[in-house]
Amino acid sequence: FVMPSVEKRGKIVIVTGVPGVGKTTVLNAALDLCRESGREVSLLNYGNVMFEEASRRGLVRARDEMRHLPVKTQTELQLKASELIRQAKGNVIVDTHTFINTLKGYMPGIPSWVADSLKPDAIVLLEADPEEISRRRMKDAAIRMREADSPERITEHQFMGRSGAAAISVQTGCTVVIAKNREGAHLEAAKAIASLFEGE
Ligand code: ATP
Ligand code: MG
Repeated sequence: FVMPSVEKRGKIVIVTGVPGVGKTTVLNAALDLCRESGREVSLLNYGNVMFEEASRRGLVRARDEMRHLPVKTQTELQLKASELIRQAKGNVIVDTHTFINTLKGYMPGIPSWVADSLKPDAIVLLEADPEEISRRRMKDAAIRMREADSPERITEHQFMGRSGAAAISVQTGCTVVIAKNREGAHLEAAKAIASLFEGE
């Protein structure tokens, strides 16, 4: 048995959660906490990196249109983004999804080759009450085009997220953290994520 070689570099934490759960909100707060305690951490949004490439190719005008592209095209964009993201140095948080709702079903946001390329130390699942997530999506309707899913569908999507995180953990050896983003308490989740960069 040969342990996979672990290169000495910063920590990589993948943060996932269904659209509108509050990843970006929580992560901006987590970054502030890390900065306050003198820890350098950079934040990369997987979808934004894909969107830059998709815009360059003239495929979409808005970020939320990408999930309606052919799955094959989305996979190409995903590969391109993984090449850019793996070059990031130091401590990195990757804001992404375990599964994306496409027209052909759930597509993995972190297929095995992305997981192998990123070699995460931990994967965080940000979860919230499905009814709450529906309301959060509605609040942003003017700036984001998020799906108006039923609470049952959101529950299913969160279940898929847990299954996906478990698979990535077994594949890569990373730990899994399930964090709740409770209403009005995004700082609580931010603290849990910031603490992953403490110590060894
Ligand atoms: P996406 O995957 O689509 O990028 P996201 O997970 O990054 O979504 P955000 O954009 O961070 O989600 O948050 C969605 C909405 O929920 C925003 O209006 C945000 O202000 C609100 N929100 C986030 N966290 C909380 C919270 N703990 N309590 C109340 N509202 C919240
Ligand atoms: Mg976001």
